[in-house]
Amino acid sequence: EEARLDASTQASKAMYEKARTHLVNGVASAYQLRDPWPIYIDRGRGATIIDVDQNEYIDFHNGYGSMIQGHANPIIGEAVAARYPLGTHFGMATEDSAVVAGLLAERWGIPRWRFVNSGSEATMNAIRIARGYTGRDTVMKIFGSYHGHHDTVMVSIGEDYDRIGPREHPASLAYGGGVPQATVDMTIPVHFNDAENLERRIVELDGEGRKPACLIMEAAMMNLGVVLPEPGYLEAVREITARHGVVLIFDEVKTGLTLAAGGATERFGVMPDMVTLAKTLGGGLPTGAVGGSEEVMSVVEDHTVNQVGTYSGNPLAMATARASLEKVLTPEAYQHLEHLEDRIVTGCQEVIDSYGLPGYAIGAGAKGCVTFSPRKVIDYPTYKQYQDRPVTQLAWLWNMNRGIYMTPGREEEWTLSVTHTDADMDRYVSAFAELAAAITN
Ligand code: PMP
Repeated sequence: EEARLDASTQASKAMYEKARTHLVNGVASAYQLRDPWPIYIDRGRGATIIDVDQNEYIDFHNGYGSMIQGHANPIIGEAVAARYPLGTHFGMATEDSAVVAGLLAERWGIPRWRFVNSGSEATMNAIRIARGYTGRDTVMKIFGSYHGHHDTVMVSIGEDYDRIGPREHPASLAYGGGVPQATVDMTIPVHFNDAENLERRIVELDGEGRKPACLIMEAAMMNLGVVLPEPGYLEAVREITARHGVVLIFDEVKTGLTLAAGGATERFGVMPDMVTLAKTLGGGLPTGAVGGSEEVMSVVEDHTVNQVGTYSGNPLAMATARASLEKVLTPEAYQHLEHLEDRIVTGCQEVIDSYGLPGYAIGAGAKGCVTFSPRKVIDYPTYKQYQDRPVTQLAWLWNMNRGIYMTPGREEEWTLSVTHTDADMDRYVSAFAELAAAITN
């Protein structure tokens, strides 16, 4: 499968050889890498993308889950075309930013918002606001969760199983170089789906005079495939954090606008103090948002915490965000996504059952995956211990060679778009059935 993909991506190879002279590794971000060379994309429309070799793929990657509107969506195109002649950047507020904030408030039931330009900026600002609001420095996160590339959250992600540390005290470990040890030490990880671990750590940290400002988490983990919260877990997290005065941040950069109109907050019915959004919000333009309760966001309002940025609320991005919320991500769109999701998850699970594969299909809203693991993954340790990495890697190659584009990492789930069809789901399932037959042969 490897050789077959290499053979069909020779124009990408040539582009890579040229690009890497001045562009490090030939890519703009390490997440665009793939061995032995990255695949360069030429164009996309709807659910289809075409690479520089003119290979056509059904896109399940969707820009790391940003493009549930589909590529070159005409409604987004109209929003860009209407905004562009009026100017695209002033560094001053436009009406669209107020409208988008209002629409988000409606969807999330969270009253106060500010805008930024990416998921990393959203989580960085949310954490700073929580620190400013509580006057504390320590931050808690879930072991293995990714929240962007700023120092505070580049901690305890992507570690080998033997580095995770004791169950009760998961280790604070820098994710790559350049992250100051002092910052790493201020970030305390706990395990997903383990409310007891959370409460014990909060009490211990409080006893050490470093009570946490906040817990930042995804309500459903989206970087180990998909890991859903066990029944009662999020409710327990909400109760514990409220009781200890720890700000609860749901990082909805991935789950926001994909799990439901009001994200994971709506889907699971648990209300955090703060929410972060990015990806899908801009419909292909870089933007992000931080939302919070009146109380927490009062520190932004009274300038106790500075939330700033040249491109914050960029008019073009606000225009596409508004068009997305008003015209693309409608109740009917979510019905369509749920229908597709049910079809692909059910189809994959039937394949798993009939071939007796060790694994399961799982998903919610527009997000899902097949997890190749003999046991259910509930947190980072179980993921590391049980995920069959060679088979997961083979599945990626298998799909690529059959015109199904998945994220290059082994950790990421599929993202469906409103432009996907039943036929696209069926194509995924039939490629998966062929894979199952090949593996079990
Ligand atoms: N939070 C989560 C949950 C994410 O998945 C990501 C990106 N994958 C980020 C934050 C960071 O977003 P960005 O890459 O836009 O900075």
